[in-house]
Amino acid sequence: KLSKRLQTIADRVTAGARAADIGSDHALLPVYLLQAGKCPSAIAGELNTGPLQAARKQIAEAGLTKAIAARQGNGLAVLEPGEADTVTIAGMGGSLMAEILETGRQAGKLEGVRELVLQPNVGEEIVRRWLTEQGYVLQSESLLEEDGKLYEVLHALRESDSPDDVTNEWLYDPSFLSVQLGEAEKRDWLYRMGPYLLREREELLHGKWRHEYAKLARICAQLEQSELPESREKEAQLRKEMNAIEEVLSCLR
Ligand code: SAM
Repeated sequence: KLSKRLQTIADRVTAGARAADIGSDHALLPVYLLQAGKCPSAIAGELNTGPLQAARKQIAEAGLTKAIAARQGNGLAVLEPGEADTVTIAGMGGSLMAEILETGRQAGKLEGVRELVLQPNVGEEIVRRWLTEQGYVLQSESLLEEDGKLYEVLHALRESDSPDDVTNEWLYDPSFLSVQLGEAEKRDWLYRMGPYLLREREELLHGKWRHEYAKLARICAQLEQSELPESREKEAQLRKEMNAIEEVLSCLR
């Protein structure tokens, strides 16, 4: 049985897609996708030898060596263009994820890839921005809690495959947030918090950003003790951010 996090990712993968899971570790996700009959074939990509061996072992034990190819390499380098319909990347930071996607895109590895299912551990904003810049449109976002941790799962399709009324202009339209902030700032918060999570007034989103608020408050308290002149500036900046979080959360209630 998959973890709730991996199950949420698996559920987003379109049935029938040839999947590539990058940074697959134990290859739990591709093995599940095959066993559940969701994908006809899959590729498990891994940079590191230890996890690659774990993937090979898992695949062999499941009797899926013909259907799942475990390949060692950096990011999307393991893919031939046109080989996968769906790419999944989970359990790493958003900046590494965006870097993997961008390097792969420049090498033509995303040609033919219609769907991305991404679960960044931090830095979700960086991933959302990359998606928009590269012509992908989010179709859903999930925020889930498992073992006391929160995870975000982002599901995106190419612009040409996205329904007509689901566009990046609509998703990141600043006028959606009726708060006292500038347009650019509103857009920033849509990217940071997630356009669907905000629209759906996702319960856990409050918890996540309350937590962030508390963290900033603690840093401010430390800065108050500091004599350094730059501390005042930093503190003012953090207070501004805390106010914005407060504003945006209050419009969700
Ligand atoms: N995707 C699995 C999951 O979500 O449960 C495993 C996540 S694990 C924390 C991250 C994996 O990504 C590690 O096995 C690591 O070796 C691999 N990794 C890190 N950087 C990578 C890269 N540039 N290309 C491919 N794999 C990478």
